[in-house]
Amino acid sequence: MTRTVYLNGDYLPEAEAKVSIFDRGFLMADGVYEVTSVLDGKLIDFGGHCVRLARSLSELEMQNPHSDEEWLAIHRELVAANGIGDGMVYLQVTRGNPGDRDFAYPSDDVTPTVVLFTQSKPGLADNPAAKIGFKVISIPDIRWGRRDIKTVQLLYPSMGKMAAKKAGVDDSWFVEDGLVTEGTSNNAYIVKGNKIITRQLSSDILHGITRAAVLRFAVEAQMEVEERAFSITEAQAADEAFITSASAFVMPVVEIDGAAIGTGKPGHVVARLREIYLDEMRKAAV
Ligand code: PLP
Repeated sequence: MTRTVYLNGDYLPEAEAKVSIFDRGFLMADGVYEVTSVLDGKLIDFGGHCVRLARSLSELEMQNPHSDEEWLAIHRELVAANGIGDGMVYLQVTRGNPGDRDFAYPSDDVTPTVVLFTQSKPGLADNPAAKIGFKVISIPDIRWGRRDIKTVQLLYPSMGKMAAKKAGVDDSWFVEDGLVTEGTSNNAYIVKGNKIITRQLSSDILHGITRAAVLRFAVEAQMEVEERAFSITEAQAADEAFITSASAFVMPVVEIDGAAIGTGKPGHVVARLREIYLDEMRKAAV
């Protein structure tokens, strides 16, 4: 079955969806994106993704091409057209095609390019890695200074994933000035006793939608939350570690730079948080 994708108002077979070589997403990485998980045919934390999309667009002085209701209708249409049970909807908005290349933003009459497509991931919430845990390495964080804007400039995160792959592990954690910022495509946490420690929000990290939900659920479950930066050394001495993202949900980390965390197996705090997160988010899915 050929996939149906969305491009600028049309639902098309994927092979027919074409974007100009002058599109600023292609030439300048001048675009933003969101990835929303789908479980049992329903969208997880859709409201959170809409809020962050609006913010990313506004930080780049781009108009939001759709209302939240319109975005929801497009997402639902694609999920239905492609028969997605578990998977993801990828959304990208670029500044569009001004017809030539120029560093300056084009005038407002250039319409943005809007692309959405689905990815089917049967059993997304039952990833066996959640029972084993991720191993990560640390690498210097040399990304740009506005990591709070969810832009499509993903080359360095991609290099980070490849460095992890070459090292035989699952992911990389970025380190800046001796302190962990986040993972290549996820937020990073450690657990010490009943306390969850994760870097505070700033332009140094992406403001994860999953992060916000997990910290809320942690407080509701009487866990203590401390928002501050931590080093790799502190992480290696923690009881547990984990990452969060819209598609990995809550994923244990059991090894950092070759050192086992706690028992070297996923711990009970992370397991509980994953369970609460998935239960609550399934209930609120739209
Ligand atoms: N940090 C980075 C750099 C990311 O790319 C992502 C997700 O893509 C996250 C954190 C997690 O954000 P979310 O929970 O909204 O998926």
